[in-house]
Amino acid sequence: MQAMRWMVTAALLCGSAVSAGAFAAAAQQGKAPLGVDLKGMDRSVQPGDDFDNYANGNWRKNAVIPADRASTGIFLEVFQKAEKRNAQIIRDAGAGHPAAGSNARKIADYYAAFMNEAAIEKAGLAPLKPELDKIDAIKTRTDLSRVLGGQLRADVDPVNATHWDTEHLFGLFVTQGLEDPSHNIAYLLQGGLGMPNRDYYLKNDAEMAGFRDKYKAYVAATLQRAGVADAQAKAGAVMALETKIANAQESLVESEDVHKANNPWPASAYAQKAPGIDWNAFFEAAGLAGQPVVDAWQPQGIKGLSALVASEPLDTWKAYLAFHTINESAGLLPKAYADASFEFYGHTLQGTPKQRDRWKRAIGAVNNDLGDAVGQIYVKKYFPASSKAQVQDMVKNILAAFDERVDSLDWMTPATKQKAKAKIETLKVGVGYPETWRDYSALEIRPDDALGNHLRAVEQEYRHQKAKLGQSVDRGEWWMTPQTVNAVNLPLQNALNFPAAILEAPFFDPKADAAANYGSIGAVIGHEISHSFDNTGAEFDAQGRLANWWTPQDLAHFKAAGQKLVEQYDAYEPLPGLHINGQQTLGENIADVSGLTAAWIAYHKSLGGKDAPVIDGMTGDQRFFLAFAQSWRTKTRDAALRQQVITDGHAPGRYRAQTVRNIDAWYKAFDPKPGQKLYLDPKDRVHIW
Ligand SMILES: [Zn+2]
Repeated sequence: MQAMRWMVTAALLCGSAVSAGAFAAAAQQGKAPLGVDLKGMDRSVQPGDDFDNYANGNWRKNAVIPADRASTGIFLEVFQKAEKRNAQIIRDAGAGHPAAGSNARKIADYYAAFMNEAAIEKAGLAPLKPELDKIDAIKTRTDLSRVLGGQLRADVDPVNATHWDTEHLFGLFVTQGLEDPSHNIAYLLQGGLGMPNRDYYLKNDAEMAGFRDKYKAYVAATLQRAGVADAQAKAGAVMALETKIANAQESLVESEDVHKANNPWPASAYAQKAPGIDWNAFFEAAGLAGQPVVDAWQPQGIKGLSALVASEPLDTWKAYLAFHTINESAGLLPKAYADASFEFYGHTLQGTPKQRDRWKRAIGAVNNDLGDAVGQIYVKKYFPASSKAQVQDMVKNILAAFDERVDSLDWMTPATKQKAKAKIETLKVGVGYPETWRDYSALEIRPDDALGNHLRAVEQEYRHQKAKLGQSVDRGEWWMTPQTVNAVNLPLQNALNFPAAILEAPFFDPKADAAANYGSIGAVIGHEISHSFDNTGAEFDAQGRLANWWTPQDLAHFKAAGQKLVEQYDAYEPLPGLHINGQQTLGENIADVSGLTAAWIAYHKSLGGKDAPVIDGMTGDQRFFLAFAQSWRTKTRDAALRQQVITDGHAPGRYRAQTVRNIDAWYKAFDPKPGQKLYLDPKDRVHIW
């Protein structure tokens, strides 16, 4: 699963959180720390030509991407701070000889097992033997359907943290119904690929062709290492099957369209709507038999994958399942498997030269599988009540700025404004950590069974999600752990999570100048709030129900403004011939533009009617926009950049920094001239919220 792979993870996810009255006070003294990195700027660049390089050019010239990373930047800097703290927490967990069954005991045992390379070598493929035996025993389509159902896990998330891909043929997501916010239902999503997404199988450029050759060789080597006969021929068959899966899948842009996802089929209707799989056997093995609703998120994709279960040879499916069963656990198998997996997923697909040290991978795995157990200790140690209060205050200020902004929109009718304001008012904001913690008492963790621990944790998570089915919705449920450097908007819950670990310098420094804090973490808070009103968020009402609460003329204006933003981002070309997909990244780009606008308003409110001080020759607005651009500074390896552009809903950080070109105040602050590359005529600037 995700944790076992060598993904970019740390960088560029959603957004984030904090600040408040404290900076305003500091700023008014005029001598606050700047919060802007002057040395990182390149003043030989005209801000109107390339604001990212103006703010970050010297930093980028000198920044070195760590050998075990695909990128560097402020997200990595803050991630490393959290990683160090988590490492301390995890290593200390066993110190007091905690009682068997306690969270501390589980953390210590999980970590010890992960670090015990000798035991992992000795076990070989043994922890996977029960699953590999089941695959080997497949004789009929019903057997195959049962194995596919038994592998279903809660490993996808189309609306919150947005994980679109699983290498299982399908993935499960559980949350409230799109049209019934009072109860949780099951959502079935397409999956089944070993490479990052369908474009890696279908695109005709030289890079992708090269990745396909290397993937096929990797599949063959893995099967061979596992003692499978005819590994070469089987790898060819697996590749051909995955190419058919890729063809059957819906695209990312289609998947992002919630209207296309609104297909609440009863489990009993699948046999007729998506023939091929023995759905009775599948749902029974998945523990979902008799579900009144299993929403088909990508109905065409699910139909296509089901048909392949019937049409493709059983032997090919068996080789495919054997490979993926090993591949998804490669990081916890003997070194030969783990190294080969890194070579393909880390080195080839991301350009990262060196595998991360084992202890770092162990910390990451504990954080994934026992996230709330570590998180409870993390917030006790590193997130005092005063920080929580301060952050809640800042969120309140930016919500008020957003509300004010809605009032001032000249294109929006009063009826739509009223609905938008109701949504702001009912938004449930979680800061730092959840109100209730995940219970791990039923999860067995052994000090000598690294892979077994992980498999049991993933199964436990699946059981937890399944247990929510049919229950009423907990709007306080969190979708990120507190020690995660990220933040998230939950459109169906109409809620936000700002984890403790992102509320750190340089995103947020209580001692820094207000301009910098609002430009950095303030824009991140604004970004998350704005997701409630992006092209997806705006489809949900205050109760999180998929509902059309817009008047037709307002909706037409909103769509036209969105289209302008699509075209703006379509024009960016991060690598030769590879453009950003403006539609695929639209929600994030709307959130960036609107979040920056709301943060700017909140910054000015925080000044209490006074002029911002000039510090080191820079006005408050200059510092605000520079801090914003610097919070998105990144340097990324080409292969990883390619993967991000193709698979991610977020534009690369360099282009997020250029968001400023849509904000009128930026023109006043830096005086860009018509004809310069970022300059937009007032009528071409996108103002959505
Ligand atoms: Zn976002």
